[in-house]
Amino acid sequence: MNAPLLATPVPASGCAAPPVLRERGQREVFCGLTGIMWLHRKIQDAFFLIVGSRTCAHLMQSAAGVMIFAEPRFATAIIEEKDLAGLADANAELDAVVERLLARRPEIRMLFLVGSCPSEVIKLDLSRAALRLGQRFAPQVRVLNYSGSGIETTFTQGEDACLTALVPTLPAEPAGAEASLLVVGVLADAVEDQFRRLLGAMGITSLAFLPARRAADMPAVGPNTRYLLVQPFLGETARALENRGATRLAAPFPLGAEGTAAWLRAAAEAFGVADAVFNAAIAAPRERAVKALHHSRAALRGRRIFFFPDSQLEIPIARFLARELEMELVEVGTPYLHKEHLAADIALLPAGVQLSEGQDVDRQLDRCLAAAPDITVCGLGLANPLEAKGLTTKWAIELVFTPIQGFEQAGDLAELFARPLNRRAALEV
Ligand code: SF4
Repeated sequence: MNAPLLATPVPASGCAAPPVLRERGQREVFCGLTGIMWLHRKIQDAFFLIVGSRTCAHLMQSAAGVMIFAEPRFATAIIEEKDLAGLADANAELDAVVERLLARRPEIRMLFLVGSCPSEVIKLDLSRAALRLGQRFAPQVRVLNYSGSGIETTFTQGEDACLTALVPTLPAEPAGAEASLLVVGVLADAVEDQFRRLLGAMGITSLAFLPARRAADMPAVGPNTRYLLVQPFLGETARALENRGATRLAAPFPLGAEGTAAWLRAAAEAFGVADAVFNAAIAAPRERAVKALHHSRAALRGRRIFFFPDSQLEIPIARFLARELEMELVEVGTPYLHKEHLAADIALLPAGVQLSEGQDVDRQLDRCLAAAPDITVCGLGLANPLEAKGLTTKWAIELVFTPIQGFEQAGDLAELFARPLNRRAALEV
């Protein structure tokens, strides 16, 4: 289909740009290694080899929670003391580990060497290692690298770093290619299938997803690629795609009935889909989503919510909770505020909402305790102390592990917030 490439209007602003409290202090977040937990499930023939310490391995084990019964597609190559002391050739050891791994797991088609704090401390150059190993194991296995390290990062940045590493390896779209749509960000397979059906029903069939489920199916990219982000934490990936000529379609993120409809509308407008076709495609699932929200609204209406900065999903989720479930936003913290990518969501926030970017955890805890919200969204490290003080909490990381995008998941997303409130109410009876 040769579609016209129209600009997509950002939704009308509900308020002037809200004030943003910027804080730079001690932070309570996980590092980007955590992203491997959902990335390894998505790219089914990829393997993530963390080049790190026992601490990194322990983090992955606890993030994985219930241990996997099948052989997992991630592991940690442990940097020992002799490596840290410069007594061993870490490159030679890494090559041997990779050789053993690929001999044992011939189904692997894409290998990510994932950097950590320890690999950075000993200045192990994983980009050179990836190049060296890539040449050795081509064409069966593509070897890429990215960094998951850091106390100055947050856990969703691992996905951004991984996809950023993938972008330069994507094939170029053929010269004169028709306009195509690329949906960018890890989605559960069921959600991806729903979006494919909805976009297909509108006639948008020149469509691909990044990342693809298999290494050999990674999409082409070029100047005729229009892309829609499904996650608000993909700033570097977006930049890399734009370096390849792709153009972002501005839209709110596809959370809730309203957000999903607006996100799909951005695609429809860019691809010249007639209003009647668009409305017919989304009518039934949107109605199901609206109905599914009724159930949780009684528990959530008028309840006050406080977001600590953690997943970077905070602003679109706050928009959903305020507009579709009538919750009151006390403070919406986010680790990083990408003004451009979040513009459409920010425009839909209620007037006067307090946004905060970055963290000074003690000061933020004081504000939270003083406000005594009905529910607080935070990282695992803050949840127990806040619960001990009588607050109801929701782990931010659950919002990334759970399929929440799209019409069919809107009810589940609302339930994630209603459930802890209902549980507390039941305990208090
Ligand atoms: S913060 Fe650094 S040392 Fe700790 S688990 Fe993450 S990468 Fe490993």
